[in-house]
Amino acid sequence: MKIENPSPIQWHFAQRAEQLQSSFIREILKITQRPEVISFAGGLPSPATFPVEQMKAAFDQVLTLQGKVALQYGPTDGYGPLREWIANSLSTGGVKIMPEQVLMTSGSQQALDLLGKVLIDEGSRVLVETPSYLGALQAFSVYRPEFVSVDTDDDGLVPQSVATVAEGARMLYALPNFQNPTGRSLSIARRVELVETCARLGLPLIEDDPYGALSYRGAPAPKMLAMNPAGVIYMGSFSKVLTPGIRLGYVVAPLPLLRRLELAKQAADLHTAQLTQMVVYQVIKDGFLDTHIPTISALYGNQCQVMLDAMAEHFPASVSWTKPEGGMFIWVTLPKHIDSMKLLDEALAQHVAFVPGAPFYANAPESNTLRLSFVTVPPEKIREGIAKLGKLLATKV
Ligand code: PMP
Repeated sequence: MKIENPSPIQWHFAQRAEQLQSSFIREILKITQRPEVISFAGGLPSPATFPVEQMKAAFDQVLTLQGKVALQYGPTDGYGPLREWIANSLSTGGVKIMPEQVLMTSGSQQALDLLGKVLIDEGSRVLVETPSYLGALQAFSVYRPEFVSVDTDDDGLVPQSVATVAEGARMLYALPNFQNPTGRSLSIARRVELVETCARLGLPLIEDDPYGALSYRGAPAPKMLAMNPAGVIYMGSFSKVLTPGIRLGYVVAPLPLLRRLELAKQAADLHTAQLTQMVVYQVIKDGFLDTHIPTISALYGNQCQVMLDAMAEHFPASVSWTKPEGGMFIWVTLPKHIDSMKLLDEALAQHVAFVPGAPFYANAPESNTLRLSFVTVPPEKIREGIAKLGKLLATKV
């Protein structure tokens, strides 16, 4: 029976809920989904790379052979064979990662939330790159840290600048490979220096690495995890190498932290779906990624080059941009007087979209920056969109 005339509720939200803001990018994506828009705004992987047939076969096989296990509740830390596969894939020469150090999460985005929950008190200092991944800033913000921006230059995070701001910090959040949003990578020398600096300071170093495998040329760079497993927390994801819709990621951490993360995960959602973990394991266990990842990298590398060539042809000389060697993003720096937020309105009027750079800064946004993604746009549309942007920019410089 439905109650008549209930009193309207005066919602009193928790302070942390008042803090929540919708991601600016998700708002832009709504506009850019119109078919006439050439969108360089998305951060989505290319659906052309999704292994639909392999997933279908694996679902069938898992449900046929182990259906009762796959459909039951599972352990919080994750599906054993998959954790073991991940631990093996991260173990290198001298460093052995144990399966016990791996916690499966619902996308690596959940790992960011769990790290925030376990490591950040209100006002805790959290060191982030300038700029940094918006989704991490959003996840950590809920726990109300004081973000401290670490200096970066054209080669990414500057390790020497960490020590000067590390006093009392709870963690440093770093993206060493093909960073979102800039596409930059840290040189091997800088990785070593950064790991050494954090080890000396006793500062937990988070290595967020969803794009590391997507190198266009040559083998992926060495992981910081392998340089100091006792002080580096590694985050990985199946979103960019398999498919994001399955929401499967993982965090690798020293055991005292991993136990806390596991408790936080238990409180949040008990565990990540057993069925998807088993299906992913079924797909990857015999080496599928060894052939699949190169096809993704080849596609993205080609489209990246098309965009870089078109930018060289159409963008004014006073505009500069990064030249990524992997991943999904190019970062553009405009002359100081151009506000990319305003530029977006004019670009949208011409049916071209990008993401303005300001939201990626934890402090002191640089409004003359923007992020371009090339992965879901076919080459001829990349050329057309960049030519339009170039024309628009030429009217401003
Ligand atoms: N970290 C970075 C740097 C990302 O770019 C993303 C996805 N855009 C994530 C984490 C989250 O990925 P997922 O939850 O799909 O694993």
